[in-house]
Amino acid sequence: MTTRTAAAAARATVYGYPRQGRDRELKKAIEGYWKGRVTADVLRATAAGLRRENWRALAAAGITEVPTGDFSLYDHVLDTTVMVGAIPERHRAAVDADALDGLFAMARGTQDVAPLEMTKWFDTNYHYLVPELGPDTVFSADSARQVAELTEALALGLSPRPVLVGPVTYLLLAKPAPGVDTGFDPLTLLDRLLPVYAEVLADLRAAGAEWVQLDEPALVQDRTPADLGAAERAYRTLGALTDRPQLLVASYFDRLGDALPVLARTPVDGLTLDFTGGAAANLEALAAVGGLPGKRLVAGVVDGRNIWINDLERSLATLGTLLGLADRVDVAASCSLLHVPLDTSAERDIEPQILRWLAFARQKTAEIVTLAKGLARGTHTITAELSANKADLASRATSPLTRDPAVGARCEAVTDADGRRSQPYPARAAAQRAHLGLPLLPTTTIGSFPQTTELRTARADLRAGRIDTAGYEERIRTEIRDVVSFQEKAGIDVLVHGEPERNDMVQYFAEQLTGYLATRHGWVQSYGTRYVRPPVLAGDVSRPGPMTVRWTSYAQSLSDRPVKGMLTGPVTMLAWSFVRDDQPLGDTARQVALALRDEVDDLEANGTSVIQVDEPALRETLPLRAADRAAYLDWATEAFRLATAGVRPGTQIHTHMCYAEFGDIVQAIDDLDADVISLEAARSHMQVARELAAHGYPREAGPGVYDIHSPRVPSADEMAGLLRTGLEAIPAERLWVNPDCGLKTRGRPETRSSLENLVAAARTVRGEL
Ligand code: GLN
Ligand code: ZN
Repeated sequence: MTTRTAAAAARATVYGYPRQGRDRELKKAIEGYWKGRVTADVLRATAAGLRRENWRALAAAGITEVPTGDFSLYDHVLDTTVMVGAIPERHRAAVDADALDGLFAMARGTQDVAPLEMTKWFDTNYHYLVPELGPDTVFSADSARQVAELTEALALGLSPRPVLVGPVTYLLLAKPAPGVDTGFDPLTLLDRLLPVYAEVLADLRAAGAEWVQLDEPALVQDRTPADLGAAERAYRTLGALTDRPQLLVASYFDRLGDALPVLARTPVDGLTLDFTGGAAANLEALAAVGGLPGKRLVAGVVDGRNIWINDLERSLATLGTLLGLADRVDVAASCSLLHVPLDTSAERDIEPQILRWLAFARQKTAEIVTLAKGLARGTHTITAELSANKADLASRATSPLTRDPAVGARCEAVTDADGRRSQPYPARAAAQRAHLGLPLLPTTTIGSFPQTTELRTARADLRAGRIDTAGYEERIRTEIRDVVSFQEKAGIDVLVHGEPERNDMVQYFAEQLTGYLATRHGWVQSYGTRYVRPPVLAGDVSRPGPMTVRWTSYAQSLSDRPVKGMLTGPVTMLAWSFVRDDQPLGDTARQVALALRDEVDDLEANGTSVIQVDEPALRETLPLRAADRAAYLDWATEAFRLATAGVRPGTQIHTHMCYAEFGDIVQAIDDLDADVISLEAARSHMQVARELAAHGYPREAGPGVYDIHSPRVPSADEMAGLLRTGLEAIPAERLWVNPDCGLKTRGRPETRSSLENLVAAARTVRGEL
């Protein structure tokens, strides 16, 4: 095909769309079903209605091929588990009794049966349910859901493309089932799984699918030759089938790297490639393999994971280059639009001019359609869109919200010394020992205490104007008094104020820093029916005034024991927000770090001697490709040090991490130069303590002894046992005693008993030293 005919054939498509509906109708229907207030039929009808609405919106916007099967009542990886019949033994009965209840049993567990484990979908904030496989797993095809959704879309007169998690990614995301040797490699099941995919493909073909999309994002990660061999075998096998739709293998979230030539030489009919951010390296790689002759290329040129408008001219240039490299070039977002909110037009609180810089799923769809039109019919057909886009980009680039010269100048002026404490750790440790006078095995918590209904009601009352700020603040002070007096009575050594004033550990700070925007309806699925509204980091960041000092100082005024100040670290402030795309992430992190540094210094000046800067997201933001990690860890650890290095040697800096295993980033943890780190460790029996020891980690550490993910109250004996295990790795002079994480999701009575037991455990073990 010539470049010109390839251009003329260009179409617009998307890989997936937000599931929840304008008012999160899906969440309400599912949670209503769980509570018995909504019937299964009503839930199914709600879901079908939302699918229909999405397809109609896509078709009306000019999307020619709509995705089907991307919709889910909980999670698309869980749906794939159902599709391939890999139901764990313990859920079999529930699934056999009722498919819908069985699905939710796998997702959430029941009274008697544990759910599937949940983990992050690559480096997004979406979480999927991990397939559990073993040598005895028998797969069987269940294409009912895929066929039904395809049929629904066909009935609307649309041209649907079913979207499936590909077989290689499915196996690479799986883990050995409980009871199976942990060394078991699920990928060894590929030959058993492929016939199931063949059957599903045949069913979809029979039901009228012309194309099917097989998502293989696992191939953008570093892969072994064996993994790549499996990918090649999979797509040679599926490609060789005669009774099948055309196959589009989808990659996203990064560059394909070594997997690109592998997929290019298989007999599949098309590939999707990401051309945004670092994935733009796909362009050169594609040219290097001689393009995709005879194949369809779907080009992800619109960022599917962030909320900024596209630079249409730049995308058109990329698309123009791609025209010579494939038989047909279509236009798409870089990944499913699941990861962005639905529609900016629902936002009423953001200034109209600023709103024009933002593109959610609906706006991104329009951009994709515009680009496809420009490609197919010439840029003269989209001149109005191009000039509006140019004006919006210019308004963003030159807005005082985007650029604050004072912030720029301050960042420029940062020196190495700013990121270094005035004394090395051993000298600081001695100063802190003298200053704080803590016992061996000091006890503390991670920050939050249970967020009671009264607190949530108080916040709602304040928003609704039922109470005024003074009334609200009095409720917060009451809670702080209560939390402080409990900790004193329980005998905890380093107290916290309990974070009652915080709705969320990122949002609370985002609301007080300049440079951040909040959305009212910008919901994004985190997992199941949980949706979050990430703030938008839109411009240069600064701190107009103290953010936490009054609450921490108030708590300190109530006690002679040290009260720990509590802040969210720069990396976490970025990781759980939509970040700006017009400067390197490291620059943004540095701005946030400097704003936090002001807060740290103010806390110290107001008498706070222990300050914790939480970085639970440090590990989860690690780039997918190992080659990109050193650069990331470099700016990430620098930002932490910049935030914390301004204090005196006797002021103790803590950090906290959770939600991950940390064995592979111990060096980075060391590079933070924090005096104390608390880490999640109870469920892994202090594994992280051994990892720190193996690395020779020289500082103080509190591997968690209390698993806060369940209401269970651990006994003092049990926690003492964990402490003794911890002592095998970390000497008593450097071991802290604390829970795994904050207590905000826990109930009050269980928390109090658990903390009393925790103090008892510390006392028992101190007596043995
Ligand atoms: N300080 C926070 C809290 O206790 C930390 C939360 C977290 O690590 N996710 O809630
Ligand atoms: Zn935590």
